[in-house]
Amino acid sequence: MTDAHCHPFDLLEHLPGAEAERLEYRVACAGNSWNLKQFEHLESMALKASAAGAPPLVRCFAVHPQVPASIEHTGPGKGAVSEGLELLAALAAGGRLEVVGETGFDLFNEAFRKTEKIQDEIFALHLETALRYRLPLILHVRRAMHKIFPFSRELKKLPAVVFHSWPGTLGEGESLIRRGVNVFFSFGAALVNNHREAQRCCAALPAERLLLETDAPWQPLRGKTFSSWADLPVILNAAAELRKGGPGGTAQELEAVTERNFLSAFGAKL
Ligand SMILES: [Zn+2]
Repeated sequence: MTDAHCHPFDLLEHLPGAEAERLEYRVACAGNSWNLKQFEHLESMALKASAAGAPPLVRCFAVHPQVPASIEHTGPGKGAVSEGLELLAALAAGGRLEVVGETGFDLFNEAFRKTEKIQDEIFALHLETALRYRLPLILHVRRAMHKIFPFSRELKKLPAVVFHSWPGTLGEGESLIRRGVNVFFSFGAALVNNHREAQRCCAALPAERLLLETDAPWQPLRGKTFSSWADLPVILNAAAELRKGGPGGTAQELEAVTERNFLSAFGAKL
């Protein structure tokens, strides 16, 4: 199976045997990190996995768009943004980074909206890095789809643009495809938790643009406290059910097509 968006380091706090679970379900994943400690952990897991012939763990790094607001609120971690941006540049230049993300815009509440200017600056640097090193981009966008479209021309130049937990409408998704962006729409627990627009999009978007994700540990299925790789079969079945009768309309078919999409989006090999 494939997981287009998860946080292996954060997951360990909830599930110390997380890596064993990943191997049990044979999950290739794009693992996100927000600081050096997380990235180094991810890198060592990725190297171990590749030495053991286990499914790959793709290394992603970015300063998350929520970081500026969390600094303002909690105080500690000041300097996290500039340190993160320096690290991004160093990892990309050193060829250690495979994906820039998750980056983007979060205007979900007042605290996040207050940091919109800083989010703009951070996003611009991430986009520039992805363009310069020809890396795929993972986007985190909440209440901010309007901020994406002005960048269509730049996004079109990237090898792939993955929207984690696709937040847009069907019309917005189709518009990105029409604009020539090599875009992928990733879906997770929202499909199972009855998010209507996500369900509509997952049912109607082209199969070759779909990805599945857990966002582990951050997007639990209803009634659970955290998400993990064990949720993937549930998400896969929900997605296939939505597409019943069309392309990717069985779990087996959808698993195969999302795996091909994962490999093409992230340039990974199984
Ligand atoms: Zn995430």
